Amino acid sequence: MHEGIQCNIIRKPDSIRQGYRPLEITSNFFEELVNICPEGVIGNDLAGNVILFNPSAERLLGYTREEVIGKINVSSLYPKGGAREAKEFLYSEDYGGRGRLVGFETELLHKAGRIFPISLSCAILAKGGAEIGIVGFFSDISARKAAEREFIESQNRFRNIVETASDAIFSFEGNYNIVVANRAAEDLLEYGKGELTGRNFKHLIPSKYGEGWGQIERYATSGGTPSARKTAELILLSKTGREIPVQISMSERQLGEKKIVTAIIRDISAQKAAEEELRLLSITDTLTQLHNRRHFYSLARKELERSKRTKAALSLLLIDIDNFKRYNDTYGHTAGDQVLVKIGEVMRNGFRSMNSCFRLGGEEFVVLMTDTGAEGAMVAAERFRVRYSEVEFRPLPGGKPVTMTISIGISEYRDGDTVEDLVHFADLAMYAAKNSGRNRTVSYADILPRPTGGSSATDFPA
Ligand code: GH3
Ligand code: MG
Ligand code: MG
Repeated sequence: MHEGIQCNIIRKPDSIRQGYRPLEITSNFFEELVNICPEGVIGNDLAGNVILFNPSAERLLGYTREEVIGKINVSSLYPKGGAREAKEFLYSEDYGGRGRLVGFETELLHKAGRIFPISLSCAILAKGGAEIGIVGFFSDISARKAAEREFIESQNRFRNIVETASDAIFSFEGNYNIVVANRAAEDLLEYGKGELTGRNFKHLIPSKYGEGWGQIERYATSGGTPSARKTAELILLSKTGREIPVQISMSERQLGEKKIVTAIIRDISAQKAAEEELRLLSITDTLTQLHNRRHFYSLARKELERSKRTKAALSLLLIDIDNFKRYNDTYGHTAGDQVLVKIGEVMRNGFRSMNSCFRLGGEEFVVLMTDTGAEGAMVAAERFRVRYSEVEFRPLPGGKPVTMTISIGISEYRDGDTVEDLVHFADLAMYAAKNSGRNRTVSYADILPRPTGGSSATDFPA
């Protein structure tokens, strides 16, 4: 019988088919089909009595046909109410038209009491125009249902991870349209729920950094395996216009025609702020809050290079408090510190930019004056000297106010000078001011002609 069926189903070339007679389709043929059908087949009359129960139905439901046929009502093969529901759908228009039910998902009850999901297709059997019963084909879909559940669970798990991640996670297409943005992304960029989806990721980058994007993209997506993927730093723009420094790592994957980019973004503002704080700490004098000696030398070198290139004037003021030791000895070190703090304050307020004032050490300070020659520097220095001499200190509670004076030396940059030369010349001028009575400003240009070649080896004249 098997052979016969195969001959008829598989079409063979005419040469081979010659001599074969088409198989006669008999009721035997259908019976055999039902017997070998991998789907369970159950037929019942209108009262629900089972009249057909194939081997697959035996296997799937755990009954033998003898236990079922003529003995069991079809409704007892379903969990409670299941048979009625299937029948209602069979007669409705929704699943394959009235009188037919195709791919309807429901459940059956195994002999052992276990309920399992099935996909069911049924049709009404009719004879001479009259309905005589129903035949149903079903297959066990437990494995598919379990896989679907597993898929949904893994999707939920994944969504959960993405949603609870503290890093911002974006997924965007090749044209940078955002498909997914998690809650951390919305929080970071101050957008409402779902507001980032559909936007273009590039619009989150301030236009002044926009050009660097290509570079970042090449950098961040290079490097083979995901673990080897590099990170890059970037500024993103929040909805309210705040610029947020972030670290970005990206990976690309091709999904059919589409390129999908996943970007994980970490807010590094705190780290950047801490770095800036450390940097400022390393260049700031803690007592006076002026920049320190180290920063003076690094900045002065840059300014000197600029003057060399542009021929712009550059002057340096070296300021030293007069008789500071005596003040310290009389009123104490803490009172001395107050004098230093005050000079820091007056300098910050009195000169063009905070960036130009430095504490060189002890009670010595410098001011770097860009685009200013010795004459302009003299005007600024004198104004500052007078101003500082008017500041009143009260080192003794209830005592008389005390004023302090300073001596200032000025040097102006000439071609070939180094920073050390400039400091040295200003120092010589400052000592000339001390020697001629203190509380005054002297310009190096006024005390002696410059040595040729800009060497700092000249000794101060006796
Ligand atoms: P001159 O007019 O010649 O500059 O005399 P002077 O006393 O100011 O100079 P001298 O170099 O003899 O003394 C500087 C004093 O500054 C000595 C030192 O104890 C004091 N000093 C240096 N650093 C600090 C500081 O941070 N706090 C205080 N209170 N004093 C300091
Ligand atoms: Mg000194
Ligand atoms: Mg001094």
